[in-house]
Amino acid sequence: MHNKSLTELSAALASGDLSSVELTHYFLDRIDQYDGDINSFVTVTSEQALAMAKQADEQIAAGQAGKLTGIPIGQKDIFCTEGVRTACGSKMLDNFIAPYNATVIDKLGAAGMPMLGKLNMDEFAMGSSNETSFYGAVKNPWDLDRIPGGSSGGSAAAVAARLTPVATATDTGGSIRQPASMCGLTGIKPTYGRVSRWGMIAFASSLDQAGVLARSAEDCALVLGEMAGFDEKDSTSVDRDVPDYTADLAEPLKGLKVGLPKEYFGEGLDSAVEKNIQDAIEEYKKLGAEMVEISLPNTHLAIPAYYVIAPAECSSNLSRFDGVRYGYRCEDPKDLTDMYERSRGEAFGSEVKNRIMIGAYTLSAGYYDAYYLKAQKIRRLISDDFKAAFEKVDVIMGPTSPVTAFKLGEKKDDPVSMYLSDIYTIALNLAGLPGMSIPAGQVEGLPVGLQIIGNYFEESKLLNVAHQFQQATDWHTQSPADYQ
Ligand code: GLN
Repeated sequence: MHNKSLTELSAALASGDLSSVELTHYFLDRIDQYDGDINSFVTVTSEQALAMAKQADEQIAAGQAGKLTGIPIGQKDIFCTEGVRTACGSKMLDNFIAPYNATVIDKLGAAGMPMLGKLNMDEFAMGSSNETSFYGAVKNPWDLDRIPGGSSGGSAAAVAARLTPVATATDTGGSIRQPASMCGLTGIKPTYGRVSRWGMIAFASSLDQAGVLARSAEDCALVLGEMAGFDEKDSTSVDRDVPDYTADLAEPLKGLKVGLPKEYFGEGLDSAVEKNIQDAIEEYKKLGAEMVEISLPNTHLAIPAYYVIAPAECSSNLSRFDGVRYGYRCEDPKDLTDMYERSRGEAFGSEVKNRIMIGAYTLSAGYYDAYYLKAQKIRRLISDDFKAAFEKVDVIMGPTSPVTAFKLGEKKDDPVSMYLSDIYTIALNLAGLPGMSIPAGQVEGLPVGLQIIGNYFEESKLLNVAHQFQQATDWHTQSPADYQ
């Protein structure tokens, strides 16, 4: 049951072979059985899930079902959920019960998908390993001594261990694609503005974008279709029709021009990972794609620019957590300043504090021009690199991550090496482009992800390119031995 695709589950529900209540119970039982070791869910909303499932069954019986009605989903704990704690991986929001739903939550609820619960994540989505969560690290189901990637580590681990058929996630610098790569999943980060950010707790507003972690491109297409769309409550959401993302999946790839950036195959890329990526490229050639070497010359500037821009935006966004309006407040403050200082000091973890301090510094009067303004200029250069590339090619491919899942604790005290694990993913966010990661091999039993980058709003093309590979290979059907 837990290996069925969303289309198969939908058919089973429609035929009456299976009810949504049964299906929801099934996944709640799996969470109960396995999540003690994995730690992917921070809150399990059994009652609510079963109530939504019952409603879905009624809709199905009344002939009012959509494609996803009755299929359960896990939600990253960054999305506000009315009446359910929304903690964003932080002690700061450990007591926060959101008074409203994020648009994504409303849309998936309206699609009839029962919410199984809220998924663990790095604190305020800052991290690449899910080790900064107040709720403890998430374990990778492929090897419990290893990290699942971050910041959507809970979403990825839960889908990989088949504790939920699909999950939402968010990506500011790689947090959908990098965990997808490390957990053997298919993940899509859409174009900036494609999915509403309303009610999605902000980390770096000009970079944050919601998407999907699933087992196949087809599953991603179905769920993205329900999440995407204009939202008048988010001024950065784009008013543009949402296509049927499944419509182009079957298009043949003959003549597809694929750009291979030389900067994505250089120093720092693990040679065994590279071998898998080269094999995937060979497979694409067999499918009719034509490979073109390209250059994205400012790639090496992406991480430095990101680690100025993201902390700057985070220091501003996180100033709302002041101990006054909501969230954590320290005991017995002496005065207002003491309350601010101790509430923030006691409730934020060290990675978040580091970034708030860096952000406040780079935005300060004397340093703004030297750091923030310069980083914004680099951002433009990076976008221009992609613009030039997309004049020559349809999509760009390369590795998602330079390495496979590393050991828990291995990079925890080495921020620079942790930051480098996003070397191939971050530039996309700076440019606002869509990207995917799909399973494309294994190294010593650990998954490798192939990244596919598309031009603005070309999610359908990306999903088509990913789907065709998945028709020809079976990497995406492999699952961790202990959760099959
Ligand atoms: N790892 C990156 C960071 O820590 C990206 C995180 C994300 O995409 N949310 O900022």
